[in-house]
Amino acid sequence: MNEANYDGVLAAARRIEGHAHRTPVARSRTLDAELGARAHLKCENLQRMGAFKFRGAFNALASLEPARRKAGVVTFSSGNHAQAIALSASLLGIPATILMPEDAPAAKMAATRGYGGRVVTYDRYREDREEIGRQLAERDGLTLIPPYDHPDVICGQGTAARELFEEVGELDALFVPLGGGGLLSGSALARQALAPGCALYGVEPEAGDDGRRSLRSGSIVHIETPRTIADGAQTQHLGTLTFPIIQREVADILTVSDSELVDTMRFLAERMKLVVEPTGCLGLAAARRMGARLRGQRVGVLLSGGNVDMARFASLLAGT
Ligand SMILES: *Cc1c(COP(=O)(O)O)cnc(C)c1O
Repeated sequence: MNEANYDGVLAAARRIEGHAHRTPVARSRTLDAELGARAHLKCENLQRMGAFKFRGAFNALASLEPARRKAGVVTFSSGNHAQAIALSASLLGIPATILMPEDAPAAKMAATRGYGGRVVTYDRYREDREEIGRQLAERDGLTLIPPYDHPDVICGQGTAARELFEEVGELDALFVPLGGGGLLSGSALARQALAPGCALYGVEPEAGDDGRRSLRSGSIVHIETPRTIADGAQTQHLGTLTFPIIQREVADILTVSDSELVDTMRFLAERMKLVVEPTGCLGLAAARRMGARLRGQRVGVLLSGGNVDMARFASLLAGT
């Protein structure tokens, strides 16, 4: 296992090269006019399997010793991490068991099975997924790869912001969706090395503002599973590895409402022809809310994923 630092991000970038896509950075004159700023959107909705999580998962699995690879891996996830592990495992020839909430979006569950993962379901409002994961790992000798609180996962996620800074140079502000903090802490490591003057913002759904409260109180706040359309950010707490990095590096943690997420999803689809899932819209929704305060700035946004089934996408946009 590597450490969660910028050298780890560089090592991850080498490991995922040729396996993960170097995703495009999208621009929009309409958006620039709305913000009075120059916005650069890193399109991880166009990443392999539809979200940045492929980066961390592939990096973590590619870092495993041969004996551990052979025994296999297990993970728990609200969806995208599961697909990322299932796909990475099949590319690397590693058996994967995936714990998923029984109410996970149908498309995510089907895709996970399609990538060759063995799916075991649990009740997200009643059962403790971390406990079930640990039990399975112990019983079958599997290596548990958690969705965010793992150095190799954090470093892998950091490669997205690294590519963005490499491509567009230092930015004044960067907006990053926040669940358990893998993407945000990885982005923080890239920012520290490549764009120390850039203000980094984590963005959570209003209903699940544990990260914001943790930052304010100075220790990790635990909450009930929040009810929000941002299913990739329904985490109950930040990680013991992600929190200290976030605490040290971020300018602030912001929140947006579900209706702001829908507005932004509509904007991205209508104006930019981009399909972005609700969680993937957190960063841009916050930048739009910040509005005038970004005037004249160079702004980066991570569009973190695009996995939303079309029926749900349509009904969210229709407001039904
Ligand atoms: C997992 C996920 C997030 C949150 O990432 P963390 O590393 O848990 O903070 C954001 N957006 C999408 C699309 C995700 O799948």
